[in-house]
Amino acid sequence: MEERTLRSPDDLAEAGLIEPERIGVLEAVAARYAVAITPEIRSLIDTGNPLDPIAKQFVPNETELDIASGETADPIGDERHSPVEGIVHRYSDRVLLKLTHLCAVYCRFCFRRETVGPGEGQMLSATALNEIWEVIVTGGDPFILSPRRLAEVTARLSAIGHVKVLRWHTRVPIVDPARVSSKLVRAIARRSPTTYVAVHVNHPRELSVDARRACAKLIDTGIPLISQSVLLRGVNDDADTLEALMRALVETRIKPYYLHHADLAPGTGTFRTTIAEGQALLRELRARASGLCQPHYVLDIPGGHAKANLMACDLDGEPGSYRLRDSKGTWHHYR
Ligand SMILES: *Cc1c(COP(=O)(O)O)cnc(C)c1O
Ligand code: SF4
Repeated sequence: MEERTLRSPDDLAEAGLIEPERIGVLEAVAARYAVAITPEIRSLIDTGNPLDPIAKQFVPNETELDIASGETADPIGDERHSPVEGIVHRYSDRVLLKLTHLCAVYCRFCFRRETVGPGEGQMLSATALNEIWEVIVTGGDPFILSPRRLAEVTARLSAIGHVKVLRWHTRVPIVDPARVSSKLVRAIARRSPTTYVAVHVNHPRELSVDARRACAKLIDTGIPLISQSVLLRGVNDDADTLEALMRALVETRIKPYYLHHADLAPGTGTFRTTIAEGQALLRELRARASGLCQPHYVLDIPGGHAKANLMACDLDGEPGSYRLRDSKGTWHHYR
C-alpha cells in the first residue's frame, strides 16, 4: 500500500488517529485550518498514547474552535510591515520573503494559521529591496517547491550584490525528509551568498533517523543548520524533554537558535504556557546543559514590534551596583 499524506478527518479516522464519531466536528476544524500529516509524521505518532506529543502537534482538535480573548489572526503583526504581498520588512537589514502559502504538514499551533493552507493564493516572487543584507525565505514552507523553482529563486537573490546571507526556514527535513533530495540541496547550495537553513523541531522524537540523514545532507554540503522550536504545553514544556531536544539538535550539528513563546494565534490556547513557566524551564536548561544547547527564548511582540528576549533580565541595577541572576533565580551583586 502506497503511503500518502493524510488531509481530511476521514483520512485520519481511517488511519486510526481519531475516533470515527469525531469526524463531523473535526470537519468544522478542517474547514477553517488546513490539515496534513505526512507518512513520516504518521509513523512517529504513538496511537497507544492519548497524550502523544507528536499527535498533539498535528492531529486537529475540537479546541481549535475556541478563540480566547487576545488571540488574533495576525499575532505577530506581519500585516503592518508588509509593503507587498509575500514580503515582511520589519528590520532595515533583513527581509522576510514568503514564497508559498503551502506546507508539507499543518501544525495546530501555527502562528500563520490564518494565512497558510490550500486556496490562499499564489505568493509573489522575489523583489529587490535596497540595504538588505539578509533574505529570510519562508512561507508556508519553501522546501515544498520544486528544486527547479528553488534554484530560480536562489539565482535571482544571489544576483543582488548587497544580499550576503540567504536563510531558509523549513520543517520539511523533519516532516518529509525524502524531499531533501540531492537536487534540492544543489538548488540552494551556494558559496555566495552564504546559505543557512533554519529547521523547525519541537520534540526529540521528531529527529528520526531519516530526519537526521536529511539534515546531514544539507550540513555535509557546507550549509550550517540552526533550529527554531516553539514552547508547547503537552509537547515540550518539561525540563527533561527540552534538554533531550536541545542535546539531540546539537548532536545532529544543528545549533539551537530560537525557542519561541507560543504566539496568540486563534484557537491555540491549549498549547500556551505562561512566560514564568518558560523562564523557569530555560533557567533549568542552563543549569543542566552546555552553552551550545541554549536557544534564545523569544516572543514576537503583538502588533509587529519585533522579538523580545524573555531571558534578557539576568542583569539588573545600574553601573556600579549591578546584580546578576544565576540559573537558580538567585541575584548576586556585581561591581
Ligand atoms: C523574526 C523575524 C525576522 C528574523 O529575525 P532574527 O532575529 O534575525 O532571526 C525577520 N523578519 C521578520 C518579519 C521576523 O518576524
Ligand atoms: S510548517 Fe511552519 S508555517 Fe507551516 S503550519 Fe507548521 S508552523 Fe505553520
